[in-house]
Amino acid sequence: MAAGGGLNLILLGPPGAGKGTQAKRLEEQHGIAQISTGDMLRSEVAAGSAIGRKAKAIMAAGELVPDEIIIAMLSARIARPDCTSGFILDGFPRTVPQAEALDVMLGEHGLTLSAVIELKVDDAALIERIAGRFTCATCGAGYHDVFKPPKIPGHCDVCGGTAFTRRADDNRETVTARLAAYHRQTAPILPYYAAQERLHSVDGMAGIEDVTAAVERVLDGLGGDVTKK
Ligand code: AMP
Repeated sequence: MAAGGGLNLILLGPPGAGKGTQAKRLEEQHGIAQISTGDMLRSEVAAGSAIGRKAKAIMAAGELVPDEIIIAMLSARIARPDCTSGFILDGFPRTVPQAEALDVMLGEHGLTLSAVIELKVDDAALIERIAGRFTCATCGAGYHDVFKPPKIPGHCDVCGGTAFTRRADDNRETVTARLAAYHRQTAPILPYYAAQERLHSVDGMAGIEDVTAAVERVLDGLGGDVTKK
């Protein structure tokens, strides 16, 4: 890869497209940091911090947290040492101003964006995908009522934990608002990255393994030393 950068990726797509699932796999496969602004905000809300108090109602309404808050948060995160070997952004950028701010931030750190990977999915499938999601409260492994239930009901496949959580904003009403925010505010980022010749689209309706394979084919096509663990 180019000097000053490991594998620096953005995963783009509407809520429920599978960004988090694929980001975790990329993290394991390539040893690069997964950065989810949604996860960061949920931690702030849980901690009751100033950012969390501002973000809570906005997130519950399915709207976007103001750019300046998110940009400051991400800028601090990208400066951390674990990002020097690469990162996967999941849920950021979500607006054109965030994409522009990211370009400035990367320039300041001497980093370049390797690729932007769009997971393309039908809106109709998303509501069903999102409404069934849940996570192990102990280790964070992700599940779905229909598409990926635990092998032994009530027990996490990974750690055996028996407590599970569902996101407060994974209900039908909020999902509809989150999809509207995606189409109105986030989809305009696609032409921004297409103009930079960094945009690659993958069929997010395929099964998890097939999507991972398609993402890896994109990375293989980038050339350079895309390291695998
Ligand atoms: P996510 O986990 O990515 O689906 O994000 C959950 C919620 O956090 C979103 O619906 C937004 O309210 C907020 N959020 C996460 N990332 C961003 C971002 N980059 N810009 C604005 N709001 C965000």
